[in-house]
Amino acid sequence: VANLKGVSADANDIAEAALYLGSEESRLQGKAALITGGASGIGETTARLFARNGAKVVIADVQSELGHSVSKKMESETGQPVSYVHCDVTKESDIENAVNAVVSKHGKLDIMFNNAGITGKYDPSIFSTEAEDFKKVMDINVYGGLLGAKHAARVMIPEKKGCILFTASLAAVIYGGVPHAYTASKHAVVGITKNLAVELGQHGIRVNCISPVAVFTPSVGRAMGLDEKTLEAVNLAIANLKGVKIDVNDMAEAALYLGSEESKFVSGFNLVVDGGFSLRHSALG
Ligand code: NAD
Repeated sequence: VANLKGVSADANDIAEAALYLGSEESRLQGKAALITGGASGIGETTARLFARNGAKVVIADVQSELGHSVSKKMESETGQPVSYVHCDVTKESDIENAVNAVVSKHGKLDIMFNNAGITGKYDPSIFSTEAEDFKKVMDINVYGGLLGAKHAARVMIPEKKGCILFTASLAAVIYGGVPHAYTASKHAVVGITKNLAVELGQHGIRVNCISPVAVFTPSVGRAMGLDEKTLEAVNLAIANLKGVKIDVNDMAEAALYLGSEESKFVSGFNLVVDGGFSLRHSALG
């Protein structure tokens, strides 16, 4: 009765089909994830990829209208529960509430991605570094992430497992031509990642960060005054890995690896996603 004549099938073919269907799309099956800055850019792309891989995702951001609309869209695209919670990462009560929302909705928190961040006033000169701007960048990029880790740890420690991720930057690795506050904040994120990996490793919790090269997102567009095509052309021109295009999806894939069981013995690591650029060059800008 076969359509494909002369080809016989057995149980192995069903297993192969399950392997194929399961391999790419279920790396976070059943996991609950909270992603700060999830309404846009790297956070949004990661939230979608996590949901496509079977995770239940809660997006935390200050852009409520956008957060609600992207989470609804992701839910219908992926068939996974994706929701939004308003959360300013600099306010401890907001972070506490966001973490509690994940636990009451999904019974646990497996992955906390502290990704929310800002560049601040885009002028790299020391003479343009103003106290207020400096403190705001540090508050969101560093203290906000630390609060996220603290409240994630609060619910992960009793479970003796969990995964905490941060978004650092290539500006934490080489000269980035970016404001001092941003550079300082991202170096701090890498340092905190190492500290927490040791402290929370005692409770079975892994802590890692990713350091993206510049990829087009709304904030990068605004800060650098570039459009997507121009940044793509710049990246291709200065790349170490010739001919390979890089975009925001590559950052989400890095977060997926660090969030999945495939990296279960990786902790305290800064995953630099730059195609080897920082090994070849000591400056971006
Ligand atoms: P983005 O502007 O698209 O996304 C950042 C998100 O964070 C926004 O949705 C914003 O509303 C949110 N946010 C800002 N302040 C917040 C706060 N106080 N509380 C909660 N949410 C807040 O930018 P992106 O490029 O996707 O940036 C994400 C992270 O990646 C940032 O930490 C950024 O520093 C880092 N990063 C980006 C690049 C890049 O090239 N795009 C490179 C290196 C590092």
